[in-house]
Amino acid sequence: MSFIRPVQKVVTGNQQVDGAGVRLVRVLGPSTTKAFDPFLMLDAIDSRNPDDYIRGFPWHPHRGIETVTYLIEGNVEHGDSLGNKGNIRDGGCQWMTAGSGIIHQEMPQPCPRMLGLQLWVNLPQKDKWAPPQYRDITAERIPKVQEASGTVSVISGVYGDARGATAGDYVAVTLLDVALRPGALWRWAAHPADTVFAYLVEGYGQFGAPSSAHLESHRALLLGAGDECRVQAGNEGLRFVIAAGRPLNEPIAWGGPIVMNTQEELDHAFEEIRRGTFIRSG
Ligand code: FE
Repeated sequence: MSFIRPVQKVVTGNQQVDGAGVRLVRVLGPSTTKAFDPFLMLDAIDSRNPDDYIRGFPWHPHRGIETVTYLIEGNVEHGDSLGNKGNIRDGGCQWMTAGSGIIHQEMPQPCPRMLGLQLWVNLPQKDKWAPPQYRDITAERIPKVQEASGTVSVISGVYGDARGATAGDYVAVTLLDVALRPGALWRWAAHPADTVFAYLVEGYGQFGAPSSAHLESHRALLLGAGDECRVQAGNEGLRFVIAAGRPLNEPIAWGGPIVMNTQEELDHAFEEIRRGTFIRSG
């Protein structure tokens, strides 16, 4: 007998303008950190109008977190203080560990549809000063598991026999993009100690036990305690991204692009930005 994780919380998020003028939906943010620990932020973009996003996110710092950018469709040009440069393209993911500090820019390029998200994973206190690094996980490196219910793309972690290109170096994170056929039932045994949430990309369906909420796209839902996630797609099919990670249960001091454990550490980071000493060498 397995206990099906119920829907514990539904988050709609709100429209915001961030960066140099990018219209996005901030689904998770400072008000959801306790319930969604270790996940801090989730921004989502779904636009067919380049004016919504081409102003992009010019050079800005990060410290104390990992940013995970996953594009179902789209093209984002990026560059960072480590000298990395490139593009995240259709079906690809960039997994960036800001750690002790990185300065980067993210510039979405005009394309027919920009459909993607950026998830911030908190770093444990002991790893806030980890060396910055990034992984460019192109679409070809993301295993796609074909099942009777649909297709599961394994961005991070392990799903059945499939192993993603990363599993998270500091916080073990499973990140899956699940596309279900109309009416299909999908079951997944996430670790019972993990926080699990799903972001609904397209379509609708039922999450949790049979009597659970019927949910439409562009919202995040937190699944409660249990040992199995159960999702039933509606009659147009359903696509969602589901994330699982162990909560850190540590204090959070959040200032814009920097997330530390104390206000002193935040003040120190902003002082370093002013002095131009934010980036560690070597
Ligand atoms: Fe950034």
